[in-house]
Amino acid sequence: MTHTLMTLPFDMRALEPYISKETLEYHYGKHHAGYVAKLNTLIKGTAYEDMVLEEIIKEADGAVFNNAAQVYNHDFYFNGMNANAGSISEDLELLISKEFVTISTLKEAFTDVALGLFGSGWVWLCVNDAGKLVIEAHSNASNPLRSEHTPLLTCDVWEHAYYIDYRNARADYIQKWWNLVNWDFVSQNLEKSKYI
Ligand code: MN
Repeated sequence: MTHTLMTLPFDMRALEPYISKETLEYHYGKHHAGYVAKLNTLIKGTAYEDMVLEEIIKEADGAVFNNAAQVYNHDFYFNGMNANAGSISEDLELLISKEFVTISTLKEAFTDVALGLFGSGWVWLCVNDAGKLVIEAHSNASNPLRSEHTPLLTCDVWEHAYYIDYRNARADYIQKWWNLVNWDFVSQNLEKSKYI
């Protein structure tokens, strides 16, 4: 199968002033599109050609894994943002209260992990196999799909995600990014998980 670049669920200016149209033009239009194109080139004529994205991520290594995972991660990241924050479901609120007590504490813990991640990578909020919320740092293209953890939300902390708008200030980017988190998407991912 041929993988296609997702359609953004918002207008290119919808995330301003936190994430600019110029950032999206590069991040979505160049980086994300580039991973999709590279993946299609790499899998042509191989066993990966017949697999869906999640299967490739679980089976592949090297460049095929890296590009497949980056397609998945960026799909997840862009779908997880919106100018309209949505709302936290009752199930999600219950898990937040169990693990973090308040949403503010969850945001602080997630932000600490994002600031502590050395180099490029992704921070994920997941529900683990015990039904608990966990925050995970993954380097480079890595993601939780190879574990039994179900991803709910991710933040891209590669410099290409924020350098145009925030230069080297990752902390400022993370702080502003919270304004864009689509809690409807996070809540829906929890409802789809087998742990609820
Ligand atoms: Mn990125």
